[in-house]
Amino acid sequence: MLDVRGLNKVYEGSGRRVEAVRDLTFSVAAGELVCLVGPSGCGKTTLLKCVGGLLRPTAGEVVLAGRRVDGPPDGMAFVFQEYGRSLFPWMRVGENVELPLKQKKGLSRARRGELVADALASVGLADAAGAYPWQLSGGMQQRVAIARALAYEPEVLLMDEPFAAVDAQTRADLEDLVRRLWRERSMTILFVTHDIDEAVYLGERVVVLSASPTVVREQLKVDLPDGRDQVHTRVAPRFAELRTHVYEQIQAAKRGTERPVKSGLPRQ
Ligand code: ADP
Ligand code: MG
Repeated sequence: MLDVRGLNKVYEGSGRRVEAVRDLTFSVAAGELVCLVGPSGCGKTTLLKCVGGLLRPTAGEVVLAGRRVDGPPDGMAFVFQEYGRSLFPWMRVGENVELPLKQKKGLSRARRGELVADALASVGLADAAGAYPWQLSGGMQQRVAIARALAYEPEVLLMDEPFAAVDAQTRADLEDLVRRLWRERSMTILFVTHDIDEAVYLGERVVVLSASPTVVREQLKVDLPDGRDQVHTRVAPRFAELRTHVYEQIQAAKRGTERPVKSGLPRQ
């Protein structure tokens, strides 16, 4: 579905040269939920912007369903970290969610209304269409941003540390919301986070990134049961093994050690 091949990104300007991403290669299958985890500043946002066609790679390419990405592709939607800046404060919630639909060809006004109502209901905000974003809590605003992406009916959803700025309880609810929506809507999701527990809890697979200049350090299948829940999954011995393993990988990556300190992950 999605192939990232030899992706490299160098930022140049103002006398500075930053090689944010050195060489990234990985694939995401249709309908998969993949988490990318790596330390702050390792180029996660840079990578997602390249995948979403918002930024041109210096070298390498992103291929979506067989076509090279060279601008925002039709079937992709983005949820950014900063919900506060991603919603328009002068538009009501319903209008914010509807806005990208106006770019889509052939959607009647009535159909747009249905999609907006359905997306808001999906994130538990059926009653909020008439409110302004600033009248809502941070967690609710991020739900609106998710609804806006859902209404667009994307095949691929890109999420860039979407829950980094909300409180722990809200974050747990939103994580479960993502898992539920992923199952209900059979989307492909690429979810970026610096939070190891979040990556293991959410993902079917975790791609561990090194520190910048970034390469893929490891790809790990998350062999936890499908029906995850915040109470039981997080205390499962396998969850602890997986998170510890990823943690060691990231620590080793920060120190620049080539191979992980401890041996591989025990088999289940
Ligand atoms: P992450 O999302 O993992 O925290 P980013 O992709 O935001 O990392 O940044 C990776 C590196 O690229 C950092 O060193 C950052 O300073 C640099 N960087 C990001 N955006 C720009 C830019 N527009 N110009 C120059 N350097 C940038
Ligand atoms: Mg970032």
